[in-house]
Amino acid sequence: MQQVTVLGTGILGSQIIFQSAYMGKDVVAYDVSDEILAALPHRWQTLEAHYREDLPDATQERLDRAVAHIRATSDLADAVREAEVIIEAIPEQLSMKQEVWGKVGALAAPEAIFCTNSSTFLPSDIAPFTGRPDRFLALHFANTIWKNNTAEVMGHPGTDPQVFERVAAFAEEIGMVPIRLHKEQPGYVLNSLLVPLLNAAADLWVRGVASIEDIDATWRIATGAPLGPFQIYDIVGMMTPYYLSKDSTDPVRKKFAERLKHDYIDQGRMGRDSGRGFYDY
Ligand code: NAD
Repeated sequence: MQQVTVLGTGILGSQIIFQSAYMGKDVVAYDVSDEILAALPHRWQTLEAHYREDLPDATQERLDRAVAHIRATSDLADAVREAEVIIEAIPEQLSMKQEVWGKVGALAAPEAIFCTNSSTFLPSDIAPFTGRPDRFLALHFANTIWKNNTAEVMGHPGTDPQVFERVAAFAEEIGMVPIRLHKEQPGYVLNSLLVPLLNAAADLWVRGVASIEDIDATWRIATGAPLGPFQIYDIVGMMTPYYLSKDSTDPVRKKFAERLKHDYIDQGRMGRDSGRGFYDY
């Protein structure tokens, strides 16, 4: 599949666009307004700097070629008309995703394949709204896709197995390692493993069992993992765990949200991107 359209040009959408173009695909970037699309050149500059730092083959010529493979539009019909695969990376709101897929289903070519990058919704939550559930599935990337290059491929019971395999092959074509899920699983493989680890670390800290540094050191030294759970929290950023914990009925989870807010968020310690989180960078 050569003609790719990505819906949403935010954190993940911009990475999917750039990575696909870097691997030689023709990519259409769609977002809701020209003002948002005007920010794309700046995003490409930021991504180019990361690629140069992390990838030995990222020559300026190749990066320029990637940018030349991208076309931006705020016209949905124009965006999807010629797409062979459409990847949706719009905000994580179910009704919004259902509405957008309804429109795309009416506009796209009949043979186009539809993928959602949703982190928390299941393909079966959205498939009926697409008008072609057999061609709809999840293709879930991890943040910083050029180096953390898993792509979890997850259908719903009605996904055509041939479509599933074409998407797994597409993931490889754009430099990802496809992870095939054989059934629907909230959190896919990655978050099914990661979230319990992060929650357990938070509980140990909030209940005063051990320090942040010692919890991380245990995980690193005893398992050989490069990062401990609080170092991972710093990469995720403080807001996601805060939002996920603040309304919990579990008193330990709620206490974790309060500590995050008081000791970190209110102090501007938002995680690694802000230079400070559980650790200073
Ligand atoms: P984001 O907020 O950075 O970007 C969302 C983009 O969608 C924005 O550019 C916004 O203008 C655009 N948008 C809003 N309404 C739209 C519409 N109707 N049509 C098209 N575009 C629209 O969000 P994000 O972090 O990139 O997340 C996008 C999706 O990717 C979510 O489903 C999220 O679960 C998933 N995801 C995010 C991460 C992550 O680490 N951020 C990782 C994996 C998956």
